[in-house]
Amino acid sequence: MTAKPLNIYDLTRPELSDLLVSLGVNPAHTGRVWRYLYWECVQQFSAMEAVPARVRAALASHATLGVLPTTLETDSSDGYTRKYLLGLHDDERIETVLMRFTGRVTACISSQVGCAMGCVFCATGQMGYTRHLTVGEIVAQAVHVQRTLRAENHRLRNIVLMGMGEPLHNFDAVMKAIDICTDGTGLGLAADRITLSTVGVVPGILRLAREQRKAFHLAVSLHAATQAERAAIVPAARKWPLDELMAACRTYSETTGRRIFYEWTLIEGKNDSPEHARAVGRLLDDLPAQVNLIPLNPTQGYDGTPTRSEAARKFQDVLIHEFGIPSTVRQRRGIDIAAGCGQLAVAEKQGLGF
Ligand code: SAH
Ligand code: SF4
Repeated sequence: MTAKPLNIYDLTRPELSDLLVSLGVNPAHTGRVWRYLYWECVQQFSAMEAVPARVRAALASHATLGVLPTTLETDSSDGYTRKYLLGLHDDERIETVLMRFTGRVTACISSQVGCAMGCVFCATGQMGYTRHLTVGEIVAQAVHVQRTLRAENHRLRNIVLMGMGEPLHNFDAVMKAIDICTDGTGLGLAADRITLSTVGVVPGILRLAREQRKAFHLAVSLHAATQAERAAIVPAARKWPLDELMAACRTYSETTGRRIFYEWTLIEGKNDSPEHARAVGRLLDDLPAQVNLIPLNPTQGYDGTPTRSEAARKFQDVLIHEFGIPSTVRQRRGIDIAAGCGQLAVAEKQGLGF
């Protein structure tokens, strides 16, 4: 199946208005169509009942409504995490996760099919890179989650770009998708409820520092505090060395006035000792920073084990008591549905029966 060229989810509201004009339709219909797309989360143009039939027909003949079908849906046993495997027009699959812990409803969204960065412990990295997602495919994931929540009288409040892929490798599409998701008359997410996580694509971070963007949060995946240790688990560090990455982070924080979240996947015996924590502390000492510790989610292609909670607590103690750096440990909920990045897609391909 080939996709029609225009996916309506690719468009900002002004662009939708332009499309209507180009179809000979009064642009005054823009607001209503937009509302159907992002409030009602309709799945077909024909469901836009208050939009005149000829407008719906014009839209349907020139654009697709790029709803992504669910090919697999699983709930974690504790009920806090729902994972969707969504199908794309070229038969590829991406993961989107709905998380409901710590009193927050959050969608974890993918930016690419696979990933080119090759982090050794990451299921997405292990599968390699296939392609970028389009703007519409990124937006459609948020709409998918919002549709579920709407049925329960809830609203999507938070997005983390921490699913499959490296968002700053797909910079333009991701930025436009954020613009669409933060449109106040649509999904209406507050920019500061969106977190973009990057492996450390230095030119992308510098571009964020340079350009006036919506004030979303930036998270940088560190995992190691020396160049040699980092390059061994994060191959992208060979292209963008640690000193250049830290210089870019400093520029970003100085120009935007914003603190960066630094992510650290805790791997037993590898990067989880108090000495490692001290190295992180020294690296981040004079930067506005918070550290997010993520105990390793075991994957088939990597034989590391997650750090135990006692060692994670000691790591946190060093950061806060010796360096004044706050940190959190991400809860490993949803692990029974392979909720680690890319793991469900791998499981489906291998017929593991999730
Ligand atoms: N590509 C981006 C965003 C997606 S990954 C990035 O790397 O930042 C989101 C976070 O999950 C990253 O910090 C990543 O290192 C981490 N991660 C990936 N696989 C993991 C695993 N198996 N266990 C624990 N954390 C993992
Ligand atoms: Fe890509 Fe992020 Fe996975 Fe690394 S951790 S391979 S950058 S998705």
